Amino acid sequence: MNLVSRDQKHLWHPLTQHKISPEALPIVKAKGSILYAEDGSEYIDGIASWYTAMYGHCNEYITGKVAAQMQNLDQLVFSGFTHEPAVKLSEELIKILPKNQQKLFFNDNGSTATEIGIKMALQYHHNQGNNRNIMLAFEEGFHGDTFGAMSVSGLSVYNGAFEEHFIEVLRIPVPLGENNSEVISQLKKQISENNIAGFIYEPLVQGAAAMKMHNSEGLNEILKICKENDVICVADEVMTGFGKTGKYFASDYMETKPDVMCLSKALTAGLLPMGLTTCSQKIYDAFYADDISKGLFHGHTYSANPPACTAAIAGIELLISEEIQQKIKTVIKSHQAFDEKIKNHPKVTNRRQLGVIYAFDLNVKMERYGNLRNQLFKHFMDNGVFLRPLGNTIYILAPFTISQSELDKIYSVIEDMLEKF
Ligand SMILES: *Cc1c(COP(=O)(O)O)cnc(C)c1O
Repeated sequence: MNLVSRDQKHLWHPLTQHKISPEALPIVKAKGSILYAEDGSEYIDGIASWYTAMYGHCNEYITGKVAAQMQNLDQLVFSGFTHEPAVKLSEELIKILPKNQQKLFFNDNGSTATEIGIKMALQYHHNQGNNRNIMLAFEEGFHGDTFGAMSVSGLSVYNGAFEEHFIEVLRIPVPLGENNSEVISQLKKQISENNIAGFIYEPLVQGAAAMKMHNSEGLNEILKICKENDVICVADEVMTGFGKTGKYFASDYMETKPDVMCLSKALTAGLLPMGLTTCSQKIYDAFYADDISKGLFHGHTYSANPPACTAAIAGIELLISEEIQQKIKTVIKSHQAFDEKIKNHPKVTNRRQLGVIYAFDLNVKMERYGNLRNQLFKHFMDNGVFLRPLGNTIYILAPFTISQSELDKIYSVIEDMLEKF
C-alpha cells in the first residue's frame, strides 16, 4: 500500500473536511527551502511550513545541537526540576525580547501560549480582587484553536458548535491610519463601560486574516490607553515573532510594550513543538504570594522539553547572527523589487509588506471561479511552489535562507498566475 492509502486508513488531518478534500501529498524529505515529494517532485516552501522553518528545513547547525542534547537529557518534569537548556534559553531570549519582558512560562504550541496569556490577564485582576473578566480583541484576529484562544479569535466561521461555551469577548476594529481616532474612541467607550481585564492582539500583521497589516501609531495609541487603564496587553507574536517583520518582534515597532507575549512557530525553528508565554515583572508579581491559590496553576507535561529548548537557543543564535540579518535584508529588498514590478498590474491590489512578509490581493471576479483559492493553490503546486493562498490573497513568507533563484522562481510562478487567472 502506498503512503496515501495508508494515510487515509487512520489519519484525520487538521483543518480538513475529508469528504471534499483532495488527498494529502506525501513528502519524504525537506532540506533548506525545498520539500521533496514521494513521487520525486520538488516544491519550494514559500511559507516556511507555516512560518516555522525560518532558517531552512533540517538546518544542520540546529539539528546538530538538538541531536547532541537528545543523547544527554531528553525529558524532565519541569515542576520542581530545572536544566541548562531552559535556563540558557531564558537568558538568550530575554536579551532580544522587549526590555520589560522578565519571566518565561513554557507550553506546547501557539494556542496554549495565547491561552495562558489570557489566563494571566484574567487571574492578574482576580488575584487583586478586581471584578474584571472580559477580554478585548481585534475583529478578525486569530489566536488558536483551544477554547480561550478560539473565544478571542474573531475569525470564528467554523466555531459554531462551541460558541456558547466561549469566554466573554468584546471587539474593536484594527487601526488603519485613517480610522485611528474612531478606533480610539470605540476603545475608550469599551473600557469605560465594561470590566475589561486584557487586550489580546496580533501586532501589526494578522496572519490568518490573510496577512492584513495595520498602523503602528494607532496600535501604539491603543496600547497606551490600555496601560493607563490597567488593561493587560497580550501580544500574540506566534506568527510575527523572530525576525519576520524586519525586527526581532513586531512589538519592537511600538513604543508601548506588551505586558505579556505569546511565542511559538519559529521559536523552535521548525524542529520541535513548543510555546512560550512571557511577561513583565508586574504580571509575575501579581501571582507571587504566600497564598498558594494565587499561583498560576497551569502546567503541560512537556514544558521546557530540553531538545525543544535547545532548538530554540540555536534558532536565536542564528537569528542574531550577521549572516541571517543580512539574509533578512536581502529578502526584504528582493520583495520590494518584485513589488515594483507587479504594482501596476490590473489584477494586483492591496499590496503590503512588512519585513519578509509580502502579500497582495488578486483583483478578479471571484464568481468566475468555482473555488478560486484551490485553483490558485493548484497552479502554484503544479509549478513546484508551495504557497497557500488565503481566499484571493497571495502571500510569501519563505525561510530567511531562501536563495535568490528560489525567490525568482516563486515570483515567476506568481507572474504566470497573473496572466492565467
Ligand atoms: C498559528 C497561530 C496560533 C496558533 O498556534 P498553534 O501552534 O497552531 O496552536 C496562534 N496565534 C497566531 C497569531 C498564529 O499565527
